[in-house]
Amino acid sequence: MRAVDVIARKRDGHALTAGEIRFFVRGYTEGRIPDYQAAAWLMAVVLRGMTAREATHLTLAMAHSGEIMDLRSIAPCVVDKHSTGGVGDKTTLVVAPLVASQGLPVGKMSGRGLSFSGGTIDKLESIRGFNPMLDRAQFVRQLAEHGIVVASQSAGLAPADGLLYSLRDVTATVESLPLIASSIMSKKIAAGADAIVLDVKVGKGAFLKTDAEAEQLAQLMISIGRRVGRRVAAVISDMDQPLGQAVGNALEVVEAIQTLHGGGPADLREHCLTVGSVMLVLAGKAAGMDEARGNLARALDDGSAWRKLLEWISAQGGDRAVLEAPQLLPAAALVEEVPSPYAGTIAEIDAYQVGLTAVLLGGGREKKGDLIDPAVGIVHHKKVGDRVEQGELLLTIHASQPKKLAAARARLLAAVRWTEQPVPPAVHTHRIIL
Ligand code: URA
Repeated sequence: MRAVDVIARKRDGHALTAGEIRFFVRGYTEGRIPDYQAAAWLMAVVLRGMTAREATHLTLAMAHSGEIMDLRSIAPCVVDKHSTGGVGDKTTLVVAPLVASQGLPVGKMSGRGLSFSGGTIDKLESIRGFNPMLDRAQFVRQLAEHGIVVASQSAGLAPADGLLYSLRDVTATVESLPLIASSIMSKKIAAGADAIVLDVKVGKGAFLKTDAEAEQLAQLMISIGRRVGRRVAAVISDMDQPLGQAVGNALEVVEAIQTLHGGGPADLREHCLTVGSVMLVLAGKAAGMDEARGNLARALDDGSAWRKLLEWISAQGGDRAVLEAPQLLPAAALVEEVPSPYAGTIAEIDAYQVGLTAVLLGGGREKKGDLIDPAVGIVHHKKVGDRVEQGELLLTIHASQPKKLAAARARLLAAVRWTEQPVPPAVHTHRIIL
């Protein structure tokens, strides 16, 4: 078999066999197929798509490109959640300690930023000392001792996804249903959790733009997970505007801390309670959504989720002083408060443009291996549906250079739409599949 023939077959719209998919995934992982052929193949998949059967073969080939962990010896049920990618999505930073505070172990492998969407590992690395690079033994020990672990993809787990993920990030090949499904599910299968909640984002700041695509992706991932004996549920939620107020790595850590103290933006708290409740119900830790929600709301308000964050971050080497005094997080050289140029009600904040602005400020990668700046980003003081007066504070930009700051200001103002009409409240949760 030759890589070029597999690329040509996909380019011409054929369904690939399990053997062809395994050949390609193995060849790329073992370094026999170079980046340029893998990039051409990815683009062919983006343009031609894959059947559900091909996507399942791709997932299994990627999961089996490394070892598959079995966490059953640690706890009867370990739960995991994974987002399909969004802007301002710091859900894991809140939900992982929140759910773990209920005695349900959370074991999770997370990614870095992908295209315009941020990544949990990049956010966590803005906390001094935090170590996401755990080997298998460290992952298992941390989970057994603390009931919570979030690690980046180690070389041993789904290495094919690790390699393809960073190639997709810089070759405009992220927006593909089978590539997203196989990327997420291969990691989830390899990381060994029994119960998996998929946080599927839809809208301008997501990789899927319509409810129909989001539903299709959710169903595809659920069917792949169930085929290999995992319990899987999905929450489909809105990503037309950024989640919460902050976009940017360290800024999002600050917002997660506020939320774990019982505060934070209302949409973020609400989303974390929904995702966390589905995790508890799926794992059999609560009889229903109402009971789960009540318990989680209490844990946010009484400090137990916050204490679990401190325990988790310190156990992975992070400096707890930074969490207790977030002003110790990396800070940008330039901070500019931008007033609203108009009065009106906010009708739209285009999350895609905001995510892209965060990347251009240096908070994401434009090329493979680029270093990111954890301090830069944006804080929105108004959300869709809020009234704003002319001259009132609209957003704050954190930047490293005046030129980047000016470009970000222009882009961000163009991403906002004002109206004189009343704006109905945005529906955040579109659907729960449990
Ligand atoms: N998250 C992932 O892990 N992979 C994708 O392809 C998209 C979001």
